[in-house]
Amino acid sequence: MDLEQTAITRLQTAAELSRKYYQQPLRVCYSGGKDSEVILELCRRADVSYEVVHNLTTADAPETVYHVRKVFRKLELESVHCKIVQPRYKGLPINMWALISIKRIPPTKKIRYCCACLKEAANHNCCVVLGVRRQESSSRADCAVAEHPGATRAEKTTFDMDNGDPRIIAPCQIKASIKIHPIVDWTDTQVWQFLRDARISMNPVYDMGFWRVGCIGCPMANKIRYAQFRQWPKYEQLYRRAFAKLVEARKQTGKDCPWRSGDEVFRWWMEDKNLDGQLDIFGGEVGADEP
Ligand code: SF4
Repeated sequence: MDLEQTAITRLQTAAELSRKYYQQPLRVCYSGGKDSEVILELCRRADVSYEVVHNLTTADAPETVYHVRKVFRKLELESVHCKIVQPRYKGLPINMWALISIKRIPPTKKIRYCCACLKEAANHNCCVVLGVRRQESSSRADCAVAEHPGATRAEKTTFDMDNGDPRIIAPCQIKASIKIHPIVDWTDTQVWQFLRDARISMNPVYDMGFWRVGCIGCPMANKIRYAQFRQWPKYEQLYRRAFAKLVEARKQTGKDCPWRSGDEVFRWWMEDKNLDGQLDIFGGEVGADEP
């Protein structure tokens, strides 16, 4: 069976589980990135019942936000229900930078509280379809076609959906969250080939030279963040301001604070090895003239 047909079969199986046990259409998470474009197109071709949700992270590029709105307008004309979920924290509206001040620690590769609050909060107790792929990162290398996430990574249960793994029924019966990854085994090349063949109109962020669409400043983006902040400098200011508030909040509450200023947090967070007081090539202090 070819790649596309395998993914379609996975979606059809998932849609059947969703209908039978959740009495709901599949919930497709659409980020505005290439993998979620593939998922949308596959849902169309699979002829399954689905709705589309975009979790507004508040840290996405403006181009991504406009692209999502454009795609949603088109889907709604095709009678697909679409929803943009505004993030909330303890019942109140929130954004990335307010969340950083509240948490009093920057989001890092290991501490991704922002994902749980800004991206995943709306995905409970349903059968959710995601464009996750193993090739994306080492942390996704062990992803399966179907998963029941546990409280921790070690508690996650994976299912061999392609071979009719019957263990998936138990979590579905209690309407637990099930994640479906129909293109988990696709490569980057296969994704781009599919999108080209399907003539999908892509997020303009790709034409700006970025291979990854997502939160600006995401710690998972490593050094690409430098290019992101050059392209969208306002976001850097927002992070610096949030980090300054974080330092103040830690000092005020007597919490141990390894940083003296927001700029110092920013350099640590960007994995910038320059230290305060270090002299640059012209004899000036490194970082001394940063805003
Ligand atoms: S910044 Fe990265 S880790 Fe945080 S919500 Fe966005 S994608 Fe998730």
